[in-house]
Amino acid sequence: MASESTATPSFTLESNTTSGLTVAVLGSPGNDNAVLCTLNSGENITRLLFDCGAGCLDAVRFRELQQIDAVLFSHFHIDHVSGFDTFVRANFAREKPVYLFGPAGSHAILQHRLQGFLWDLVDGTPGRFVVTEIRRDGLFTVQFRSAEGFAVAHPVATTPFVGRVFETAELTIDAVILDHGKSDSIGYCVRQRARTNVDRAALARLALRSGPWLKRLLDPALADGEVVDVGGTPWTLGRLRAELLLTTVGESCGYLTDFRTTSGTEAELQRLFSGCRRLVCENNYGDEDAEAALRNNHMTSSSVGELASKLGPECLVVFHLTDKYDVAGWKRLLDEVRSRFPRAWFPHEWAGVFEPAASGVSPGSALTST
Ligand SMILES: [Zn+2]
Ligand SMILES: [Zn+2]
Repeated sequence: MASESTATPSFTLESNTTSGLTVAVLGSPGNDNAVLCTLNSGENITRLLFDCGAGCLDAVRFRELQQIDAVLFSHFHIDHVSGFDTFVRANFAREKPVYLFGPAGSHAILQHRLQGFLWDLVDGTPGRFVVTEIRRDGLFTVQFRSAEGFAVAHPVATTPFVGRVFETAELTIDAVILDHGKSDSIGYCVRQRARTNVDRAALARLALRSGPWLKRLLDPALADGEVVDVGGTPWTLGRLRAELLLTTVGESCGYLTDFRTTSGTEAELQRLFSGCRRLVCENNYGDEDAEAALRNNHMTSSSVGELASKLGPECLVVFHLTDKYDVAGWKRLLDEVRSRFPRAWFPHEWAGVFEPAASGVSPGSALTST
């Protein structure tokens, strides 16, 4: 991660990867964007796509597109969904279900988009798209099947909404319903669960030979007082756990775009996003355009910085910049954010635009995303 204060602060993040988490901002400044989060637990890799603007998936390999587990839409203004056809093309026939999330209205909008093609060659195709609408009155999940041409919304579940929208053994995703005028916009926070592993160095230090007893250490059903035999010596599980187990705090990333805060949503954001280590947030409007920001239900640079200072991430990445500004204008916006929250950068992928000398790329060159 880049250092917080240097003589000439860099505009872009040094890296988009920390241990176990890669956050790739797709698309370029002034154009549509999306964010691809890749979480690696050491045993499994989970890929989450946040929004899907025009052309954003062009830089993602087809094989990787097919491995995206879920698409989490903030809302359905066209700049957030224009690139969805590319995702559908890669995934309509896959075995593993596709999970989609979005605000009220998601079922109808996504079904219309899925039905916007001729599906006469899909008999027996296994594809399933499981769509959850995140609403104040609950989580409403239906399923569409490729083999039916997505014609039928099969009810799956309706559950109360209290923040959590998805979880696996390795991660959780919480959501906040934000104000974006006539539409809700959903903010998401994904967190890896803490992982507990055996410290191999400690094992060697204690000269203990690995064996089936190691599994018992990690079994939460077994009490600390239980005694196991290790190479002829009795040990309590509690002592072994204290000596050998290492717990790694999971990575986390929040995604916020196209919204303005209200007192109610700010409290919800603090409840669900506090302690989130990375935050990716829109920066559509500079402070000079506060009126337009209010009219269009967006944040200003200062309000982005203020919100970040309340949520306290280790790192804030601002994106979704409008083409109303030029490069100098975008840098001014970042300065405004930093006046309230210094640990803010543009995405690593945009170094070619903001720091061409450092990256060896001239301004305006085509951007690449990972
Ligand atoms: Zn937008
Ligand atoms: Zn919008």
